[in-house]
Amino acid sequence: MHVVVVGAGIVGVCTALELIREGHKVTVVDAASNAASQASYANAGLLSPGHCFSWAEPGTVQGVLSAFILGKDRPRIGRPRNAALVGWLRLFAKQSSVGNWKRNSRHALQLARLSREIHFSTDDIPLSSYGGSRNGLLYLYKAGEAPAEAELDLLREAGEPFEVLRGNALRALDPSLNGANADSFHGGTYCPLDACGDARLYALEAARIAGERSAQFRWETRVGEILMQEGRVVGISTESGVLPCDACVVATGYASKELLRPLKYKLQIHPVSGYSLTYHGIQGARPVHGGVSISDKIAWAPFGEGRMRFTGFADIGHPDKTLSSHRFASLEAFARKLCPAVEGMEVEQWVGQRPMTPDGLPYLGAGTHQGLFLNCGHGAMGWTMASASARLTAQVMAGRTPSMDLTPFRHDRRFL
Ligand SMILES: Cc1cc2nc3c(=O)[nH]c(=O)nc-3n(C[C@H](O)[C@H](O)[C@H](O)COP(=O)(O)OP(=O)(O)OC[C@H]3O[C@@H](n4cnc5c(N)ncnc54)[C@H](O)[C@@H]3O)c2cc1C
Repeated sequence: MHVVVVGAGIVGVCTALELIREGHKVTVVDAASNAASQASYANAGLLSPGHCFSWAEPGTVQGVLSAFILGKDRPRIGRPRNAALVGWLRLFAKQSSVGNWKRNSRHALQLARLSREIHFSTDDIPLSSYGGSRNGLLYLYKAGEAPAEAELDLLREAGEPFEVLRGNALRALDPSLNGANADSFHGGTYCPLDACGDARLYALEAARIAGERSAQFRWETRVGEILMQEGRVVGISTESGVLPCDACVVATGYASKELLRPLKYKLQIHPVSGYSLTYHGIQGARPVHGGVSISDKIAWAPFGEGRMRFTGFADIGHPDKTLSSHRFASLEAFARKLCPAVEGMEVEQWVGQRPMTPDGLPYLGAGTHQGLFLNCGHGAMGWTMASASARLTAQVMAGRTPSMDLTPFRHDRRFL
Protein backbone atom coordinates (compact mmCIF):
# COMPACT_ATOMS: atom_id res chain seq x y z
CA MET A 1 0.00 0.00 0.00
CA HIS A 2 1.29 3.51 -0.80
CA VAL A 3 0.97 5.68 2.32
CA VAL A 4 1.58 9.42 2.38
CA VAL A 5 2.60 10.82 5.77
CA VAL A 6 1.92 14.56 5.84
CA GLY A 7 4.33 16.26 8.27
CA ALA A 8 7.94 15.40 9.12
CA GLY A 9 8.03 16.49 12.74
CA ILE A 10 9.04 13.92 15.35
CA VAL A 11 5.60 12.29 15.07
CA GLY A 12 5.62 12.06 11.26
CA VAL A 13 9.13 10.62 10.89
CA CYS A 14 8.59 8.03 13.64
CA THR A 15 5.38 7.04 11.84
CA ALA A 16 7.18 6.77 8.51
CA LEU A 17 9.77 4.47 10.06
CA GLU A 18 7.06 2.20 11.55
CA LEU A 19 5.19 2.04 8.24
CA ILE A 20 8.37 1.12 6.38
CA ARG A 21 8.93 -1.69 8.91
CA GLU A 22 5.40 -2.92 8.06
CA GLY A 23 6.38 -3.13 4.39
CA HIS A 24 4.41 -0.15 3.03
CA LYS A 25 5.61 2.16 0.30
CA VAL A 26 5.94 5.49 2.16
CA THR A 27 6.17 9.09 0.97
CA VAL A 28 6.65 11.86 3.56
CA VAL A 29 5.56 15.33 2.48
CA ASP A 30 6.49 18.47 4.40
CA ALA A 31 6.23 22.19 3.74
CA ALA A 32 9.67 22.76 5.30
CA SER A 33 13.10 21.90 3.93
CA ASN A 34 14.01 19.28 6.56
CA ALA A 35 12.63 17.15 9.38
CA ALA A 36 11.70 18.67 12.75
CA SER A 37 11.54 22.28 11.69
CA GLN A 38 8.50 23.29 13.76
CA ALA A 39 7.43 22.19 17.27
CA SER A 40 10.04 19.41 17.26
CA TYR A 41 12.96 21.75 16.54
CA ALA A 42 14.30 22.70 19.98
CA ASN A 43 11.89 21.35 22.57
CA ALA A 44 13.02 20.51 26.10
CA GLY A 45 14.01 17.01 25.04
CA LEU A 46 12.45 15.26 28.04
CA LEU A 47 11.06 11.76 27.56
CA SER A 48 8.93 12.17 30.62
CA PRO A 49 6.16 9.68 31.40
CA GLY A 50 6.87 10.59 35.04
CA HIS A 51 5.39 14.03 34.47
CA CYS A 52 2.95 13.73 31.58
CA PHE A 53 -0.06 14.83 33.63
CA SER A 54 -2.75 16.81 31.84
CA TRP A 55 -2.23 20.60 31.94
CA ALA A 56 -5.97 20.98 32.42
CA GLU A 57 -5.90 20.34 36.16
CA PRO A 58 -7.98 21.48 39.11
CA GLY A 59 -7.06 25.07 39.92
CA THR A 60 -5.41 25.82 36.55
CA VAL A 61 -8.10 28.20 35.40
CA GLN A 62 -8.15 30.10 38.72
CA GLY A 63 -4.32 30.06 38.75
CA VAL A 64 -4.15 31.52 35.25
CA LEU A 65 -6.73 34.18 36.10
CA SER A 66 -4.91 35.28 39.26
CA ALA A 67 -1.57 35.20 37.44
CA PHE A 68 -3.11 37.51 34.82
CA ILE A 69 -3.84 40.00 37.53
CA LEU A 70 -0.80 39.55 39.78
CA GLY A 71 1.96 37.63 38.05
CA LYS A 72 5.13 39.05 36.47
CA ASP A 73 5.67 35.87 34.44
CA ARG A 74 1.98 35.35 33.87
CA PRO A 75 0.76 33.36 30.85
CA ARG A 76 -0.27 35.66 27.97
CA ILE A 77 -2.61 35.31 25.04
CA GLY A 78 -1.07 36.17 21.66
CA ARG A 79 -2.52 35.86 18.12
CA PRO A 80 -4.90 34.63 16.86
CA ARG A 81 -7.66 35.78 19.23
CA ASN A 82 -10.90 34.50 17.77
CA ALA A 83 -14.02 32.48 18.45
CA ALA A 84 -12.05 29.23 18.02
CA LEU A 85 -9.73 30.25 20.86
CA VAL A 86 -12.67 31.08 23.14
CA GLY A 87 -14.21 27.68 22.36
CA TRP A 88 -10.90 25.92 23.04
CA LEU A 89 -10.45 27.72 26.38
CA ARG A 90 -13.96 26.76 27.41
CA LEU A 91 -13.25 23.07 26.68
CA PHE A 92 -9.88 23.31 28.47
CA ALA A 93 -11.66 24.69 31.56
CA LYS A 94 -14.15 21.79 31.42
CA GLN A 95 -11.30 19.29 31.32
CA SER A 96 -9.80 20.65 34.54
CA SER A 97 -12.25 18.99 36.92
CA VAL A 98 -10.67 16.42 39.28
CA GLY A 99 -12.31 13.50 37.47
CA ASN A 100 -11.35 14.67 33.98
CA TRP A 101 -7.77 15.47 35.03
CA LYS A 102 -7.35 11.98 36.51
CA ARG A 103 -8.81 10.22 33.50
CA ASN A 104 -6.79 12.27 30.97
CA SER A 105 -3.54 11.91 32.91
CA ARG A 106 -4.08 8.17 33.25
CA HIS A 107 -4.46 7.80 29.45
CA ALA A 108 -1.44 10.05 28.84
CA LEU A 109 0.66 8.00 31.24
CA GLN A 110 -0.31 4.74 29.56
CA LEU A 111 0.61 6.11 26.12
CA ALA A 112 3.86 7.68 27.36
CA ARG A 113 5.02 4.50 29.12
CA LEU A 114 4.30 2.40 26.04
CA SER A 115 6.18 4.96 23.98
CA ARG A 116 9.28 4.82 26.19
CA GLU A 117 9.26 1.03 25.98
CA ILE A 118 9.09 1.11 22.17
CA HIS A 119 11.60 3.97 21.91
CA PHE A 120 14.28 2.04 23.79
CA SER A 121 13.46 -1.41 22.38
CA THR A 122 15.25 -0.81 19.08
CA ASP A 123 18.94 -0.14 18.43
CA ASP A 124 18.22 1.64 15.16
CA ILE A 125 18.94 5.07 16.64
CA PRO A 126 21.60 4.92 19.38
CA LEU A 127 21.50 7.37 22.30
CA SER A 128 24.80 8.93 21.25
CA SER A 129 23.35 10.07 17.90
CA TYR A 130 20.90 12.42 19.61
CA GLY A 131 22.75 13.43 22.78
CA GLY A 132 20.53 11.13 24.80
CA SER A 133 20.85 9.89 28.38
CA ARG A 134 18.82 7.39 30.38
CA ASN A 135 19.59 8.31 33.96
CA GLY A 136 16.17 9.55 35.05
CA LEU A 137 14.57 12.98 35.37
CA LEU A 138 14.00 15.27 38.35
CA TYR A 139 10.77 17.18 38.96
CA LEU A 140 11.64 19.81 41.56
CA TYR A 141 9.82 22.06 43.98
CA LYS A 142 10.72 25.15 46.00
CA ALA A 143 10.08 25.85 49.68
CA GLY A 144 6.51 25.32 50.77
CA GLU A 145 5.67 23.16 47.73
CA ALA A 146 5.62 19.40 47.26
CA PRO A 147 4.67 16.82 44.65
CA ALA A 148 0.88 16.50 44.49
CA GLU A 149 -0.36 13.31 46.13
CA ALA A 150 -2.80 12.81 43.25
CA GLU A 151 0.12 12.72 40.80
CA LEU A 152 2.07 10.26 42.93
CA ASP A 153 -1.05 8.08 43.20
CA LEU A 154 -1.28 7.92 39.41
CA LEU A 155 2.38 6.88 39.15
CA ARG A 156 1.86 4.19 41.81
CA GLU A 157 -1.29 2.92 40.14
CA ALA A 158 0.57 2.60 36.80
CA GLY A 159 3.55 0.86 38.43
CA GLU A 160 5.86 3.72 37.42
CA PRO A 161 8.88 3.77 39.78
CA PHE A 162 9.72 7.06 41.52
CA GLU A 163 11.43 8.39 44.63
CA VAL A 164 10.50 11.48 46.58
CA LEU A 165 13.78 13.21 47.49
CA ARG A 166 14.49 16.10 49.83
CA GLY A 167 17.48 18.32 50.63
CA ASN A 168 20.75 16.42 50.79
CA ALA A 169 19.42 13.29 49.08
CA LEU A 170 18.52 15.45 46.10
CA ARG A 171 21.90 17.16 46.00
CA ALA A 172 23.72 13.83 46.36
CA LEU A 173 21.93 12.57 43.26
CA ASP A 174 22.78 15.66 41.18
CA PRO A 175 25.75 17.55 42.67
CA SER A 176 25.15 20.48 40.29
CA LEU A 177 22.21 21.36 42.53
CA ASN A 178 24.79 22.40 45.14
CA GLY A 179 25.36 25.54 43.08
CA ALA A 180 23.85 28.99 43.38
CA ASN A 181 20.35 27.64 42.95
CA ALA A 182 20.76 24.89 45.54
CA ASP A 183 18.71 26.47 48.26
CA SER A 184 15.78 27.20 46.05
CA PHE A 185 14.94 23.52 45.46
CA HIS A 186 13.70 21.86 48.62
CA GLY A 187 12.79 18.55 47.10
CA GLY A 188 11.10 16.73 44.31
CA THR A 189 10.33 13.51 42.53
CA TYR A 190 12.99 11.44 40.81
CA CYS A 191 11.72 9.17 38.02
CA PRO A 192 14.62 6.83 37.24
CA LEU A 193 13.20 5.42 33.98
CA ASP A 194 12.65 8.81 32.36
CA ALA A 195 15.23 10.01 29.86
CA CYS A 196 16.22 12.91 27.66
CA GLY A 197 17.72 13.66 24.27
CA ASP A 198 17.51 16.11 21.39
CA ALA A 199 14.24 15.36 19.54
CA ARG A 200 15.41 17.14 16.38
CA LEU A 201 18.60 15.07 16.09
CA TYR A 202 16.52 11.94 16.65
CA ALA A 203 14.03 13.01 13.95
CA LEU A 204 16.84 13.73 11.46
CA GLU A 205 18.32 10.30 12.11
CA ALA A 206 14.91 8.59 11.85
CA ALA A 207 14.33 10.38 8.52
CA ARG A 208 17.77 9.31 7.26
CA ILE A 209 17.13 5.66 8.17
CA ALA A 210 13.60 5.72 6.69
CA GLY A 211 15.13 7.15 3.49
CA GLU A 212 17.74 4.39 3.38
CA ARG A 213 14.92 1.88 3.74
CA SER A 214 13.03 3.25 0.72
CA ALA A 215 10.87 6.09 2.12
CA GLN A 216 10.62 9.05 -0.26
CA PHE A 217 10.73 12.61 1.11
CA ARG A 218 9.18 15.59 -0.63
CA TRP A 219 10.48 18.74 1.04
CA GLU A 220 9.20 22.30 0.59
CA THR A 221 5.88 20.85 -0.52
CA ARG A 222 2.78 22.16 1.20
CA VAL A 223 -0.25 19.88 1.15
CA GLY A 224 -3.37 21.89 0.30
CA GLU A 225 -5.97 19.15 0.37
CA ILE A 226 -6.49 15.46 0.99
CA LEU A 227 -8.33 14.11 -2.01
CA MET A 228 -11.29 11.74 -1.65
CA GLN A 229 -13.35 9.63 -3.98
CA GLU A 230 -16.47 7.89 -2.70
CA GLY A 231 -15.40 8.39 0.90
CA ARG A 232 -11.88 7.06 0.59
CA VAL A 233 -8.46 8.69 0.25
CA VAL A 234 -7.09 8.70 -3.29
CA GLY A 235 -4.29 11.26 -3.02
CA ILE A 236 -3.10 14.64 -1.82
CA SER A 237 -2.88 17.89 -3.71
CA THR A 238 0.23 20.08 -3.43
CA GLU A 239 1.52 23.20 -5.18
CA SER A 240 3.46 20.91 -7.50
CA GLY A 241 0.56 18.64 -8.42
CA VAL A 242 -1.41 15.64 -7.20
CA LEU A 243 0.27 12.70 -5.49
CA PRO A 244 -1.93 9.58 -5.62
CA CYS A 245 -1.93 7.28 -2.57
CA ASP A 246 -3.98 4.56 -0.88
CA ALA A 247 -3.78 6.01 2.62
CA CYS A 248 -2.73 9.21 4.34
CA VAL A 249 -1.51 9.92 7.89
CA VAL A 250 -2.04 13.49 9.09
CA ALA A 251 0.92 14.39 11.34
CA THR A 252 0.98 18.14 10.83
CA GLY A 253 0.96 19.27 14.47
CA TYR A 254 -1.32 22.23 15.11
CA ALA A 255 -1.83 22.76 11.33
CA SER A 256 -3.84 19.49 11.27
CA LYS A 257 -6.93 21.38 12.36
CA GLU A 258 -6.94 23.51 9.18
CA LEU A 259 -5.85 20.68 6.90
CA LEU A 260 -8.78 18.50 7.99
CA ARG A 261 -11.41 21.26 8.25
CA PRO A 262 -12.60 20.91 4.59
CA LEU A 263 -13.32 17.23 5.31
CA LYS A 264 -15.54 18.31 8.24
CA TYR A 265 -13.25 17.17 11.07
CA LYS A 266 -13.55 19.58 14.00
CA LEU A 267 -10.20 19.16 15.74
CA GLN A 268 -9.63 21.18 18.91
CA ILE A 269 -5.92 21.95 18.58
CA HIS A 270 -4.55 25.35 19.54
CA PRO A 271 -0.90 26.51 19.45
CA VAL A 272 0.61 27.21 22.88
CA SER A 273 4.01 28.90 22.64
CA GLY A 274 7.10 27.94 24.60
CA TYR A 275 10.64 29.34 24.56
CA SER A 276 13.98 27.60 24.35
CA LEU A 277 17.66 28.38 24.81
CA THR A 278 20.48 26.07 23.73
CA TYR A 279 24.07 26.49 24.91
CA HIS A 280 26.92 24.69 23.12
CA GLY A 281 30.41 23.91 24.41
CA ILE A 282 29.82 24.36 28.14
CA GLN A 283 33.14 23.83 29.93
CA GLY A 284 32.25 23.86 33.63
CA ALA A 285 29.91 21.74 35.77
CA ARG A 286 26.35 21.29 34.55
CA PRO A 287 23.35 19.26 35.69
CA VAL A 288 23.76 15.53 35.21
CA HIS A 289 20.02 14.93 34.98
CA GLY A 290 17.36 16.60 32.94
CA GLY A 291 14.64 18.13 35.05
CA VAL A 292 11.79 20.53 35.53
CA SER A 293 11.35 23.26 38.12
CA ILE A 294 7.65 22.77 38.63
CA SER A 295 7.56 26.05 40.54
CA ASP A 296 9.12 28.08 37.68
CA LYS A 297 7.64 26.00 34.83
CA ILE A 298 11.13 25.73 33.34
CA ALA A 299 12.79 22.54 32.09
CA TRP A 300 16.42 21.73 31.31
CA ALA A 301 18.33 18.88 29.73
CA PRO A 302 22.01 18.08 29.13
CA PHE A 303 22.60 16.78 25.58
CA GLY A 304 25.87 14.93 24.97
CA GLU A 305 29.17 16.81 25.17
CA GLY A 306 28.77 20.31 26.63
CA ARG A 307 25.26 21.02 25.28
CA MET A 308 22.46 22.15 27.50
CA ARG A 309 18.90 23.28 26.78
CA PHE A 310 16.48 25.33 28.89
CA THR A 311 12.82 25.74 27.94
CA GLY A 312 9.78 27.19 29.55
CA PHE A 313 6.54 29.17 29.70
CA ALA A 314 3.20 28.64 28.02
CA ASP A 315 1.62 31.53 26.13
CA ILE A 316 -1.54 30.80 24.22
CA GLY A 317 -1.14 31.60 20.49
CA HIS A 318 1.88 33.32 18.92
CA PRO A 319 3.84 35.90 20.96
CA ASP A 320 5.05 39.30 19.75
CA LYS A 321 8.72 40.39 19.95
CA THR A 322 8.36 42.21 23.27
CA LEU A 323 6.89 39.18 24.99
CA SER A 324 9.52 36.86 23.47
CA SER A 325 12.43 38.99 24.64
CA HIS A 326 10.94 39.17 28.14
CA ARG A 327 10.63 35.37 28.19
CA PHE A 328 14.20 34.86 26.95
CA ALA A 329 15.53 37.22 29.63
CA SER A 330 13.73 35.21 32.36
CA LEU A 331 14.98 31.91 30.91
CA GLU A 332 18.57 33.18 30.70
CA ALA A 333 18.45 34.36 34.32
CA PHE A 334 17.25 30.90 35.37
CA ALA A 335 19.92 29.17 33.26
CA ARG A 336 22.73 31.25 34.79
CA LYS A 337 21.51 30.41 38.27
CA LEU A 338 21.17 26.66 37.70
CA CYS A 339 24.31 26.35 35.60
CA PRO A 340 26.70 29.26 36.24
CA ALA A 341 29.05 27.90 33.52
CA VAL A 342 26.72 29.34 30.83
CA GLU A 343 27.45 32.92 31.97
CA GLY A 344 28.60 35.01 29.00
CA MET A 345 28.17 32.16 26.47
CA GLU A 346 26.46 32.57 23.10
CA VAL A 347 23.02 31.09 23.09
CA GLU A 348 20.56 29.89 20.45
CA GLN A 349 17.03 31.19 20.99
CA TRP A 350 13.87 29.54 19.66
CA VAL A 351 10.10 29.92 20.06
CA GLY A 352 7.89 26.94 19.24
CA GLN A 353 4.20 26.10 19.40
CA ARG A 354 2.88 23.04 21.22
CA PRO A 355 -0.13 21.56 19.37
CA MET A 356 -2.44 21.46 22.41
CA THR A 357 -5.79 19.74 22.77
CA PRO A 358 -8.03 20.63 25.74
CA ASP A 359 -7.41 17.27 27.45
CA GLY A 360 -3.69 17.03 26.58
CA LEU A 361 -4.22 13.83 24.58
CA PRO A 362 -3.37 13.50 20.89
CA TYR A 363 -5.74 12.47 18.12
CA LEU A 364 -4.84 8.90 17.14
CA GLY A 365 -6.40 6.31 14.89
CA ALA A 366 -8.67 6.05 11.90
CA GLY A 367 -10.72 8.97 10.63
CA THR A 368 -14.25 8.68 9.24
CA HIS A 369 -12.91 8.36 5.68
CA GLN A 370 -11.39 5.12 4.54
CA GLY A 371 -7.60 5.39 4.33
CA LEU A 372 -7.36 8.50 6.52
CA PHE A 373 -5.46 8.29 9.84
CA LEU A 374 -4.76 10.94 12.46
CA ASN A 375 -1.57 11.29 14.48
CA CYS A 376 -1.53 14.87 15.73
CA GLY A 377 -2.21 17.21 18.68
CA HIS A 378 0.46 15.89 21.05
CA GLY A 379 0.66 19.17 22.99
CA ALA A 380 3.50 19.29 25.52
CA MET A 381 4.37 15.60 25.12
CA GLY A 382 5.00 14.86 21.43
CA TRP A 383 8.56 13.61 21.95
CA THR A 384 7.46 11.52 24.93
CA MET A 385 4.55 9.96 22.99
CA ALA A 386 5.89 9.77 19.41
CA SER A 387 7.11 6.17 19.31
CA ALA A 388 3.86 4.67 20.62
CA SER A 389 1.73 6.99 18.48
CA ALA A 390 3.65 5.77 15.43
CA ARG A 391 3.37 2.06 16.36
CA LEU A 392 -0.36 2.33 17.15
CA THR A 393 -1.01 4.10 13.84
CA ALA A 394 0.76 1.30 11.97
CA GLN A 395 -1.23 -1.36 13.88
CA VAL A 396 -4.59 0.31 13.13
CA MET A 397 -3.65 0.75 9.49
CA ALA A 398 -2.84 -2.97 9.24
CA GLY A 399 -6.24 -3.82 10.76
CA ARG A 400 -4.64 -5.37 13.87
CA THR A 401 -5.86 -4.76 17.42
CA PRO A 402 -3.74 -1.87 18.74
CA SER A 403 -1.56 -2.44 21.84
CA MET A 404 -3.83 -0.08 23.79
CA ASP A 405 -7.42 1.09 23.55
CA LEU A 406 -7.59 4.15 21.29
CA THR A 407 -11.10 5.29 22.31
CA PRO A 408 -9.76 8.21 24.47
CA PHE A 409 -7.83 9.49 21.42
CA ARG A 410 -10.69 9.47 18.89
CA HIS A 411 -10.98 12.46 16.57
CA ASP A 412 -14.68 12.87 17.41
CA ARG A 413 -14.39 12.87 21.24
CA ARG A 414 -16.34 15.72 22.77
CA PHE A 415 -14.33 17.00 25.78
CA LEU A 416 -17.29 16.87 28.15
C1 LIG B 1 9.18 24.89 24.32
C2 LIG B 1 8.70 23.48 24.10
C3 LIG B 1 9.18 22.46 24.91
C4 LIG B 1 8.72 21.16 24.75
N1 LIG B 1 9.27 20.17 25.50
C5 LIG B 1 8.88 18.88 25.32
C6 LIG B 1 9.48 17.83 26.07
O1 LIG B 1 10.38 18.04 26.86
N2 LIG B 1 9.02 16.57 25.88
C7 LIG B 1 8.01 16.28 24.99
O2 LIG B 1 7.61 15.13 24.90
N3 LIG B 1 7.46 17.26 24.24
C8 LIG B 1 7.86 18.54 24.38
N4 LIG B 1 7.30 19.54 23.64
C9 LIG B 1 6.20 19.21 22.72
C10 LIG B 1 6.70 18.62 21.41
O3 LIG B 1 7.77 19.41 20.91
C11 LIG B 1 5.57 18.55 20.40
O4 LIG B 1 4.46 17.88 20.95
C12 LIG B 1 6.02 17.79 19.16
O5 LIG B 1 7.16 18.40 18.60
C13 LIG B 1 4.92 17.76 18.10
O6 LIG B 1 5.45 17.05 17.00
P1 LIG B 1 4.65 16.92 15.64
O7 LIG B 1 5.49 16.10 14.74
O8 LIG B 1 3.25 16.53 15.91
O9 LIG B 1 4.55 18.44 15.10
P2 LIG B 1 5.65 19.36 14.40
O10 LIG B 1 7.00 19.08 14.92
O11 LIG B 1 5.14 20.75 14.50
O12 LIG B 1 5.63 18.88 12.89
C14 LIG B 1 4.57 19.19 12.02
C15 LIG B 1 5.15 19.22 10.62
O13 LIG B 1 4.07 19.37 9.70
C16 LIG B 1 4.49 20.22 8.65
N5 LIG B 1 3.28 20.77 8.04
C17 LIG B 1 2.30 21.50 8.63
N6 LIG B 1 1.33 21.78 7.74
C18 LIG B 1 1.69 21.20 6.57
C19 LIG B 1 1.09 21.12 5.27
N7 LIG B 1 -0.11 21.67 5.00
N8 LIG B 1 1.75 20.47 4.29
C20 LIG B 1 2.96 19.88 4.53
N9 LIG B 1 3.57 19.93 5.75
C21 LIG B 1 2.94 20.59 6.74
C22 LIG B 1 5.37 21.25 9.34
O14 LIG B 1 6.26 21.85 8.42
C23 LIG B 1 6.09 20.39 10.38
O15 LIG B 1 7.32 19.90 9.90
C24 LIG B 1 7.74 20.87 23.76
C25 LIG B 1 7.28 21.88 22.94
C26 LIG B 1 7.75 23.18 23.09
C27 LIG B 1 7.25 24.26 22.16
